[in-house]
Amino acid sequence: MNQFPSQILALRHSAWMPVVEANAGLPTASKFGGIPWLQPGESWPTCQHCGQPMPLFLQLNLAELPEALRGKFGEGLLQLFYCTNTDAFCETECDTFFPFTEGKFVRLIVPESETPPVVPEQIAHFPEQRIIGWKEADDYPDSQEALEQGVEYAEREWEALIDADFPRSGDKLSGWPHWIQGIEYPNCRICQTPMRLVFQLDSNDHLPFMFGDMGCGHVTQCLEHKSEVTFAWACS
Ligand SMILES: [Zn+2]
Ligand SMILES: [Zn+2]
Repeated sequence: MNQFPSQILALRHSAWMPVVEANAGLPTASKFGGIPWLQPGESWPTCQHCGQPMPLFLQLNLAELPEALRGKFGEGLLQLFYCTNTDAFCETECDTFFPFTEGKFVRLIVPESETPPVVPEQIAHFPEQRIIGWKEADDYPDSQEALEQGVEYAEREWEALIDADFPRSGDKLSGWPHWIQGIEYPNCRICQTPMRLVFQLDSNDHLPFMFGDMGCGHVTQCLEHKSEVTFAWACS
């Protein structure tokens, strides 16, 4: 890996893979699935399309991120709720694969208490996978994204050089997005600037859920407007 030309080495980013334990932590813990933190008296987020409570997919406690990322994404909890109701075809009718659509709820919120939320009876939530640590690893972009960074290689040449495993697939924090349909950073709705990756949520990694046909999803955020967070995914 150290034989990379310097212009490729300059594109090295760290990605952090979650280390999980199958048990429930505090409402404010970082986790896949399980019980989120909600404001006192707040009801569980429901789908704007079908009205059903949406399971929590991901909650990141930004104060518990690896040190290199503390403060980078703001403060508090980053939460992603996503509708899994297949009776109402929420995914297709809301085009949930696009950013900023109905059928999901993404937000940054600062928790003020440890009051456990009221869990709706009819919710089918995923068993909690608590994130107890992070494993850092190198990550590199794909040839298209490298080109945008001014590093030009033919796709085959690039893949031969860097290893087909980059950008890393699977669930990861930061690093380079593993794009399925090419570069798709959403634009911030306030400043129109392309948002950056916070978390890659892949099909069937820590959650037993598939985005379309083994699609890969990305939680993104505006660098400037940290409350502008969204989630989108693509499959081949
Ligand atoms: Zn729905
Ligand atoms: Zn912005």
